[in-house]
Amino acid sequence: MSESIRCTLVNCNCECFQAGKINIRQCDHCKHGWVVHALDKLRVNHLYQQSQVEIVQSNVVFDISSLMLYGTQAIPIRLKILLDRLFSVLKQEEVLQILHSLGWTLQDYIRGYILQTQCEHQSSSQTSDQRFM
Ligand SMILES: [Zn+2]
Ligand SMILES: [Zn+2]
Repeated sequence: MSESIRCTLVNCNCECFQAGKINIRQCDHCKHGWVVHALDKLRVNHLYQQSQVEIVQSNVVFDISSLMLYGTQAIPIRLKILLDRLFSVLKQEEVLQILHSLGWTLQDYIRGYILQTQCEHQSSSQTSDQRFM
């Protein structure tokens, strides 16, 4: 991460996100989370405030989603509402592609968190793939 990413929380004057040593999603400078910093870079607030839906490209949605979903196993409800809005302008295949590349399934996303059954998934993946073909 070469660019400096400011913290977007009001009253926080942190100028640059610094990944924490224990929790990489927490800023070492100001102890706030990664997402509140990343919002600055992505100008999600700007998207939010548009009264008309602008054309949202799937790669932009991917960037935003990756900030919220990658490396986590649960989505805070406010972020999920935002993601729901962004996903609603994409085709379902695009949404599935984004979720899958970030390690989420649609079911997990709808639920709001990832169920801890990865070993089970792996051992049964062959049979379920075959079923879908
Ligand atoms: Zn901060
Ligand atoms: Zn910070």
